[in-house]
Amino acid sequence: MGRRRRRRKPGKWTVILLVGVAVWFVLEGRFYFPKYIRPPGDAEPVVVELDTTSYCHCRKCCSYKWLAFIPYQKTGTFSGRIKKIGVTSSGATVRPGSIAADISIYPYGTIMHVPGYGYGRVEDTGGAIKGRHIDLYRPNHWFARSWGVKKLKVKVWLPPKEDPPQQEAPANVGS
Ligand SMILES: [Zn+2]
Repeated sequence: MGRRRRRRKPGKWTVILLVGVAVWFVLEGRFYFPKYIRPPGDAEPVVVELDTTSYCHCRKCCSYKWLAFIPYQKTGTFSGRIKKIGVTSSGATVRPGSIAADISIYPYGTIMHVPGYGYGRVEDTGGAIKGRHIDLYRPNHWFARSWGVKKLKVKVWLPPKEDPPQQEAPANVGS
């Protein structure tokens, strides 16, 4: 009765688990790395009270459907088109720190600090995101749902205007 050597090969379940983790990481892991976003050094923020909700990249939050293995857009401007999962309306990839807002008020590139969420940047839009309502990206549906609806005092740094006809206009936010 010699000692059995059991260390030659990893077991079947170890391999399945490792492959599973690798597949998850390729498909979903990229959504978990937060973006590094900080406001411009010298600018003073405007503090605005906004309704905040949260969303993720799933088919419920982004209203797409699966046709076999092809995701397509169900509603909205791009109805019927192929959906690029994880890509925002501005073209940036969606990661924690991506915020959807009404871009007629808060254009792409607006930096915000939301209590409980941290710094984020406006990179996305949404059919239901109008006026003083922002949608914060979180990397899975459970996180997104657990945020609920919160009215919060949000610090806002609007991006610099390209051609300022009247400088020092206190922007059309707050009041
Ligand atoms: Zn979702």
